[in-house]
Amino acid sequence: MKISFDLDDTIISTKFSLEKESLWSKIIRVERIRSGTITLFKKLRAQKHEIYIYTTSYRSKLKIKLMFLCYGIPVDFVVNQHLHEKRVRKRGKNVSKFPPEFDIDIHIDDSLGVEMEGKKFGFKTIIVSIDDENWTNTILKKIEKAF
Ligand SMILES: [Mg+2]
Repeated sequence: MKISFDLDDTIISTKFSLEKESLWSKIIRVERIRSGTITLFKKLRAQKHEIYIYTTSYRSKLKIKLMFLCYGIPVDFVVNQHLHEKRVRKRGKNVSKFPPEFDIDIHIDDSLGVEMEGKKFGFKTIIVSIDDENWTNTILKKIEKAF
């Protein structure tokens, strides 16, 4: 299955604890990621899921890909705001994220607004709170239920 992750306040924030920086992440000075991300992505990968990033930010695809690569957890595909505008907005869909456009089966986000959009436009979401210290288990459990 294709699983996408939001970035801001889901994977990147100063409001939760972070993964230790790797040598590469220090050298290339990429952004730091939420504690638990590495294990979570590896587990999802072992379960044969594909990992996508879907962000409403304008960070470049290369920058995002490089960031995860620095932590040893490459991602399969990146949807940033540029691509979203090109593919989704062009079709006249007024929605902040539309995962089905990219064949994504389930999208993980911190935003209740995205959850509402999912209900309205018919896509699956898992919402994790920024202060959920057990966030990786929350996700793994819900993914298990979803498929
Ligand atoms: Mg967010």
